[in-house]
Amino acid sequence: MTDKYQLDTLAVRAGIERSQFGEHSEALYLTSSFVFKSAAQAAERFAERERGPIYSRFTNPTVSVFEQRLAALEGAECCVATASGMSAILAMAMGLLKAGDHVIVSQSVFGATVQLFSNILKRFGLDTTFVSATDVAAWQKAVKPNTRLLFLETPSNPLTEISDISALAAVARKAGALLAVDNCFCTPVLQKPLELGADIVIHSATKYLDGQGRVLGGAVLGKTSVIREGVFGFLRTAGPTLSPFNAWVILKGLETLRIRMEAQSASALELARWIEQQPRIERVFYPGLPSHPQHALAMKQQKSGGGIVSFVVKGGRDAAWKVVDNTRLISITANLGDTKTTITHPATTTHGRVSPEARAAAGIGDGLLRVAVGLEALDDIKADLARGMNA
Ligand SMILES: *Cc1c(COP(=O)(O)O)cnc(C)c1O
Repeated sequence: MTDKYQLDTLAVRAGIERSQFGEHSEALYLTSSFVFKSAAQAAERFAERERGPIYSRFTNPTVSVFEQRLAALEGAECCVATASGMSAILAMAMGLLKAGDHVIVSQSVFGATVQLFSNILKRFGLDTTFVSATDVAAWQKAVKPNTRLLFLETPSNPLTEISDISALAAVARKAGALLAVDNCFCTPVLQKPLELGADIVIHSATKYLDGQGRVLGGAVLGKTSVIREGVFGFLRTAGPTLSPFNAWVILKGLETLRIRMEAQSASALELARWIEQQPRIERVFYPGLPSHPQHALAMKQQKSGGGIVSFVVKGGRDAAWKVVDNTRLISITANLGDTKTTITHPATTTHGRVSPEARAAAGIGDGLLRVAVGLEALDDIKADLARGMNA
């Protein structure tokens, strides 16, 4: 089905496997195990000579539909669903790397991803070098003989820095390493990392894929030869598995993903243009604006700028908090990718545990705010922000 249909069709129909009841909507198989007709069939299933579900830690039909649908959207051969975005990154690392390996990670990745590589995986003998998201030469310079993986997120959170996926894929290939891209901010609607040369795509399905702030989920995608043995092998044994219920909820999210992404992205562009004109604003970070330092690259590798707009309010923390505290509509929460617009003050929340020096080096100032634009009327969002900006 993947070859024949366009993204819109795949988002609604890819992966469907109907039961004997002929249900129209995807069935929710909320069961931990599956029964066999005989001892012989059980033996065949366990030996993988017969296809079919065994136990929901590693084979559940609802989860499989989600995996096939997301694989179709990303243009991937293989997808392994996980309990969350973080467990997707963990499963990738545990499945593909070993003690003594070296990885290069963008400085501008999700906070928990930094902690995972710099604290937890380090204890298991993984050596990580953090480099600038945008400086291709720095990635090349960081390569060691034992470099096995390059990991990045583009656009980054919260400054929307853009990494050059094709250029870094070339660095990875030359080093004999894999390139993994966390495609959370763009989703396959706006960016297809595998087509640009990446080997692995990571998702936090918690964000735009669900899109309505309901459940956690994640996924690792890529070639079968990379994903099946290592990543699926780890998941099967260790069990950071996506619940069938969450898979079902996210499947329903995928059906409207393209429509939501385009609407939220169009609103974000208009909001970014408007914020740029407000007198109390020092700077706006949005890849769809010509003022963005990597605007040209963003427009080359993404369909549009995405749904996240960050900006610096003049007057530091007090002025930024005033904008947050004067909202009546926008939700004060760290989540993003929801139909409800959210606002975050990164310096005191998502990046609050980072040292002030490291925060400054990362460009996360006290006046910075991040807005993840939802589906509300844009005029209502503007009015909600204007109240605090003019207070
Ligand atoms: C939220 C997020 C994650 C982690 O996902 P969870 O589902 O919360 O575990 C990873 N990467 C990015 C870019 C995110 O925004």
